[in-house]
Amino acid sequence: MSDQEFKRALGYANSAFDLLKRSGIPPYPQFYELLYTYSTGVNPNLNTRINAIFRSGDAPTADLAETLYDEFLKSDMSDRISDVSERMHERIGAVHKAIDSAMSTAQAYSGSLDAASDVLDGEMSASAIKALTSTLLAETRRMQENNHALESQLAASRDDIASLQRDLDHVRRESMLDPLTKIANRKSFDEGMENAIAEAKADGTPLSLMIVDIDHFKNFNDTYGHQTGDQVLRLVAMTLKSNIKGKDLAARYGGEEFVAILPSTDVEGAVIVAENVRSAIQAKELLKRSTNEKLGRITASFGVAAFRPNDTASSLIERADRCLYAAKHAGRNRVLSEKELENAPPRRAVG
Ligand code: GH3
Ligand code: MG
Ligand code: MG
Repeated sequence: MSDQEFKRALGYANSAFDLLKRSGIPPYPQFYELLYTYSTGVNPNLNTRINAIFRSGDAPTADLAETLYDEFLKSDMSDRISDVSERMHERIGAVHKAIDSAMSTAQAYSGSLDAASDVLDGEMSASAIKALTSTLLAETRRMQENNHALESQLAASRDDIASLQRDLDHVRRESMLDPLTKIANRKSFDEGMENAIAEAKADGTPLSLMIVDIDHFKNFNDTYGHQTGDQVLRLVAMTLKSNIKGKDLAARYGGEEFVAILPSTDVEGAVIVAENVRSAIQAKELLKRSTNEKLGRITASFGVAAFRPNDTASSLIERADRCLYAAKHAGRNRVLSEKELENAPPRRAVG
């Protein structure tokens, strides 16, 4: 990077940072990226939209920034998918071409053989036979060469397609993961929920859902900064993941909320799992990586609900969520399940 490029990038970075500060949008990496892109002006549609928001005089919200981010910048994954599919397309085109060319050579060859067999039916002089043989020999060589070319084309394509397949698998796996914590994202959770519900319905097996929300995480972020907050999110994700097994699925539901789908698990079993996760989170003494500064401990609250025959994904989530908010209400750092929950206060009433 030249000095000039460095200065230009620093200019964009400063301007993005100023905009973040002025607009009061939380300085999360994705919003910084959004305003950095705005500062560069490379995406005129994005700039038109943001200018209109600034002109309107309304304070931009984190939700609005999230929407813009999803619309304009979160295309990385689909870019990569289209890149792989474009390469796949090119490869298939090349194979088609090679096959077409082999077929036309084969047709020409078979035409020559037909013609030769007509000629051979008649009387022929020795020199005519010699001429015919050398024509056939030349044609046969051309045919062989073409076959070799086709073979190597197909071998190259086979290797290429195998490597494209690996890329595609990689992109597909990534698209199911939350980039920060590397556990399942909301999309995989939604799919996992639909599958788990279908299975519970079909087999009549129990199914439980656990929702986790980190306690007073806003304070933590405000005290130690978002990067340290992000490390805590990774830690909680790993703790959750390492306390479940088999067909269970742990996912980041959003922000500092996590979920675990627990198939073949009744509410009592799910409460035990949640208790394990809760105590494992509480037991971890947090250290700031860069300075080894002790940051104390964090806790989380848990809501647990069990599938009922008429449940949909959202009705089950809503019940687990009500348990979670009851757990917050009851003092945080605890697990509450539907069993303990009677006349739970609605979510809104909890501060
Ligand atoms: P409560 O105990 O009631 O759950 O309090 P809380 O502060 O955890 O809850 P609240 O919903 O008020 O705040 C959630 C905070 O989570 C807001 C934000 O600071 C933080 N947060 C959400 N997403 C991220 C993220 O991706 N990274 C970081 N570092 N923090 C995040
Ligand atoms: Mg929350
Ligand atoms: Mg919280």
